[in-house]
Amino acid sequence: MRPGQRLAILSALVDEQRGLIDHLQGSERVEHAGRQFWLGQLHGVPVVLTVSRIGKVSASMTAAILVERFDAGAIVFTGVAGALGHEVQVGDVVVAQDFLQHDLDVSPLFARYEVPAYGRARFACHPQLSQALLQAVQQTLASDFAQARVHQGLIASGDRFVNGHAEVQALRQRLQQDGHPALAVEMEGAAVAQVCADHGLPYAAMRTISDRADDHAHRDFALFVREVASRYAQGIIMRLLADLALRGR
Ligand code: SAH
Repeated sequence: MRPGQRLAILSALVDEQRGLIDHLQGSERVEHAGRQFWLGQLHGVPVVLTVSRIGKVSASMTAAILVERFDAGAIVFTGVAGALGHEVQVGDVVVAQDFLQHDLDVSPLFARYEVPAYGRARFACHPQLSQALLQAVQQTLASDFAQARVHQGLIASGDRFVNGHAEVQALRQRLQQDGHPALAVEMEGAAVAQVCADHGLPYAAMRTISDRADDHAHRDFALFVREVASRYAQGIIMRLLADLALRGR
């Protein structure tokens, strides 16, 4: 990040953002393109907070605004996701290593999932920022939520809430066969990864597993987000910013 740039904290859902706004020092709210952006400082770090909105188009628009209008120097994204990896349980956290759009298919002109003009399907997260996020996740879970496990790997994004046993099985198998064994499925992360790649912006992302993307995926979703995921996200982000503030000194 250049001096003067803000760290953007992107939340997938409004509930996840609430606790962070309460901690914001010198907060100022700006409206743009129907979205609300909160400017201020967390642990002395200049930040801009906003909600991505659901789906790839909405999320990429939000990310582009963060870069173009709010001079974001890096983006950290929190949200919830469905489990894809067999070892991934509800309540665990996945820190993204890279992202892929599981519903993008321009074959046979391009390899399946490949984003035309980029020559690749996967978009990697920033190693150092992701490492800092991973550490913040590990420390937060160890001190407050000891039963949860942390994973790091590929996350698949697509414009569909996956909630069916057969559907999630098919998606898992297809991605595995194609050499993209994803740990989790959600609806925004890959879009933001692509915007960050366009701008050469460091990007890190984590998702709390809210469901197994099966027939029960939609049940208790709101409650889980409010009671569990939003607390994880708040604790993790505050810890990450405390760490970044210390390093910056
Ligand atoms: N109830 C919410 C809508 C949730 S949509 C509301 O009213 O706003 C699902 C959100 O959770 C998206 O942000 C998506 O990224 C994530 N997600 C969680 N589980 C998912 C799954 N099984 N499939 C796809 N996305 C999932």
